[in-house]
Amino acid sequence: MTHYIIFGPPGAGKGTQAELMVKKYNLLHISTGELLRAEIKKGTELGIMAKALIDAGNLVPDEVVVAMIKHKFTSNPDVSGFILDGFPRTTAQAATLDELLGEMGKKVDKVISIIVSDATVRDRIRHRAQIEDRKDDIDDEVIATRIRNYHQKTEPLIDFYKAQNKYFEINGEGSVEKIFEEVCTLIDNN
Ligand code: ADP
Repeated sequence: MTHYIIFGPPGAGKGTQAELMVKKYNLLHISTGELLRAEIKKGTELGIMAKALIDAGNLVPDEVVVAMIKHKFTSNPDVSGFILDGFPRTTAQAATLDELLGEMGKKVDKVISIIVSDATVRDRIRHRAQIEDRKDDIDDEVIATRIRNYHQKTEPLIDFYKAQNKYFEINGEGSVEKIFEEVCTLIDNN
């Protein structure tokens, strides 16, 4: 059982690369962003709470996303591994993830970090807004809040995983195919 984290700022292309990894390596893709958007679509209580935070560019509480991840782990015992996309996003989430996996006798194997500049992030998010119906992708101020939250709350995870020797970087400014080649090289070279 292999556990990868696909890491990077909003709009780095994590979801795109995760989908390609799923096809090639028979892994289960767990995207907390997608799980939250599904709750919003269903109009659940959790969805209504999450929507207000997401639309403002803020993170949802750690307990909420941790509960979603826990559920995914326990309800999919037969896959050969997981790709976590958009989780963990805070050091508290990362510490809880280590505990959760530890209880199951498992661990995070590699963190694949897609590096893109803030300017690229803004361009890509604006472009995505024209294709997908995501309110959090439209407003410049909301995008700025998301980028700020990434730097303040999520970027510290880089040191967290470096300290565990699990952190690997890829330049995310090239084509989808070229980036995926680099992802595969990272995965295939243990
Ligand atoms: P992006 O990759 O563009 O940031 P996501 O689809 O991963 O988009 O997430 C969309 C939003 O969902 C985030 O801006 C945040 O509000 C919320 N979210 C997703 N994952 C988490 C998480 N692990 N912790 C807290 N909030 C999260």
